[in-house]
Amino acid sequence: MSTIADEVENRRTFAIISHPDAGKTTITEKVLLFGQAIQQAGTVKGKKSGQHAKSDWMEMEKERGISITTSVMQFPYAGKLVNLLDTPGHEDFSEDTYRTLTAVDSCLMVIDSAKGVEDRTIKLMDVARMRETPIVTFMNKLDRDTRDPFDLMDEVESVLKMDCAPITWPIGMGKEFKGIYHLLKDEVVLYQSGMGHTIQESRVIKGINNPELDDVISEYAEELREQVELLEAGNSFDKQAFLDGKLTPVYFGTALGNFGVDHILDGLVEWAPAPMSRETTTRTVESKEEALTGFIFKIQANMDPNHRDRVAFMRIVSGKYEKGMKMRHVRVGKDVRISDALTFVAGDRSKVEEAYPGDIIGLHNHGTIQIGDTFTQGEELKFSGIPNFAPELFRRIRLKDPLKLKQLQKGLMQLSEEGAVQVFRPLRNNDLIVGAVGTLQFDVVAHRLKAEYKVDAVYEPISVATARWVECDNATTLQAFRNKAYDNLALDGSDNLAYVAPTMVNLQMTQERHPDVRFRETREH
Ligand code: GDP
Repeated sequence: MSTIADEVENRRTFAIISHPDAGKTTITEKVLLFGQAIQQAGTVKGKKSGQHAKSDWMEMEKERGISITTSVMQFPYAGKLVNLLDTPGHEDFSEDTYRTLTAVDSCLMVIDSAKGVEDRTIKLMDVARMRETPIVTFMNKLDRDTRDPFDLMDEVESVLKMDCAPITWPIGMGKEFKGIYHLLKDEVVLYQSGMGHTIQESRVIKGINNPELDDVISEYAEELREQVELLEAGNSFDKQAFLDGKLTPVYFGTALGNFGVDHILDGLVEWAPAPMSRETTTRTVESKEEALTGFIFKIQANMDPNHRDRVAFMRIVSGKYEKGMKMRHVRVGKDVRISDALTFVAGDRSKVEEAYPGDIIGLHNHGTIQIGDTFTQGEELKFSGIPNFAPELFRRIRLKDPLKLKQLQKGLMQLSEEGAVQVFRPLRNNDLIVGAVGTLQFDVVAHRLKAEYKVDAVYEPISVATARWVECDNATTLQAFRNKAYDNLALDGSDNLAYVAPTMVNLQMTQERHPDVRFRETREH
C-alpha cells in the first residue's frame, strides 16, 4: 500500500505561461500525446483543423481564438503523475491566472524564439515570482528562422532577472534545424521534420566528438563544438537555484514538430518540486500530512452545456480524498459528504475515486463554495494568499427587458463568485456596477449573461475611477465612516463593504480624512 508521502513524491503539478501564440496550446497537445491521455494530438483547441476540442466549450473562445478557460489535465509520464493546469493567455484574465499559479508548484515558460521575451510573459513571470515558483524554459519554433540562441538567453537574464542554464542546445534553425545537443547527457538528438503528430524514435549520436556527427551534420558539428565551449563559461544547472526561482533550465525545440517536448518533461519530472506545503493564517500545512486539506482557486460555471452546473476547482494540499468522504467546508462551518468529485483527463470528466496532494479535483457547487475557501477533515484552517484585485474599469449594467432583473442579479452573482467579473451594489440606489481588470471581461460577461442566463444587458459609462475594500477594527469609527461616505459605499458580490471612488483625488482625500480606516487594493478570499 502506498503512503501519502509516496503519492506526494510521485506527483508534479505545473502550468504553462507564455505570450499568446508562443505555442502553449501546441505544447499541451504534445504533452498529452506523451501522456497518452489522448491518442492523436490536435484535440485540445483544434483552431486550424476545425475539430472542436472538449475544452473549447465557449463560442467566444473559438471566435476570438483565445483560451479563456483554465483546464486541468492529469497524465502519467516517466513513472510520475503529472498535473498540467492551463492558464488563460489573454491579459484581461490575469486575476484568474494569478489564482491558478497559486495552485501549481512549478511553471513551464514558453518563448517564441523568433520574438524573444514578450510583454505577457513578463507580467506572468512577475506573478510566478511572487511565490518564487521554479521555472523551466522552452525556446519554441526552432523550425523557423529564430533569433540567436545566445541572445535569447541574454534577454531572459536581463529582462526576467533569472540566470539561464541551457540543458539542450539547438543545432541550426529554420529549414536547417538539425536537432539538439543535450549538454548533460553529451548526446546529439537529430530532428526529423513532418513527424509532429507522433512520438518519434529520434536518432541519437553519443558524444560531441563522435566523428559520426561530422558525417551527419557536416559543418554544423564544428560550430556546435565551438558554441558548447562558449557555454561552458556560462551557468551550469544548479538545482537549488532552480528551486529558489533564481535559475531556469533552458530547452530548445519545436512544439509543432514535437521535438524537445519530451526533454522538458524529463526535466520537470526529475527536478521540479513534488507538491509543496502551503501557508494558512495559523500554520504551514505540509503536503505529507495525513488529514485532507485543500483550497478553491477557481470556480467555473456551465463548463459543459449538457451539465448546467458550476464546478469549484480544489487543489489538494495534504492528505487523501476518497470518494464518499466527509469534508469540513471551513468558512461555512459545515461538514459535507463528497461522492462525486471530478477529474479532468484531457477535457473528459470522470469521477475520482481518490486523489492526493498536487491533484486538482472539481466539486459541484450549488452556490455555497467561493474562491479561496478551505476544506479540511475538521481542523479550523484558512489557506492564505488567494487575492481579488481591485478593478480599474467600471460600467453600469442595464437590462433591455426590466422584467429580467432577477436573472440578471443571479447571473452577475454567479459570475462574480467565479471571479469572471466583480459586482458592486451601491448602498444608496439599485444600480449594478460591474468592475473589471481588463475590458475583454465586459464582453465575456455580456456574452455569458445572454448565453447562460438569457439576459440581454447593455453597459453604460459611469464615473468611477477605482474601488477599495474598506476595513476598520473599531465598530464606532466604521459606523461614523459609513454615515459620512454613504453615497460612495457599495457591497461587492460577497457582501463586503467597498468604497467606490469617482476620482483618484476623491479617494486620496477620503483616505486622509479617515486615517483609521483601511482601504485595501486586494481582498483575500
Ligand atoms: P498559444 O496561443 O500559445 O496557445 O499558441 P498555439 O499553440 O496556438 O500556437 C500559435 C501558432 O504557432 C499556431 O499556428 C501553431 O501551429 C504555431 N506553432 C506552435 N509551435 C510551433 C513550432 O514549433 N513551429 C512552428 N513553425 N509553428 C508553431
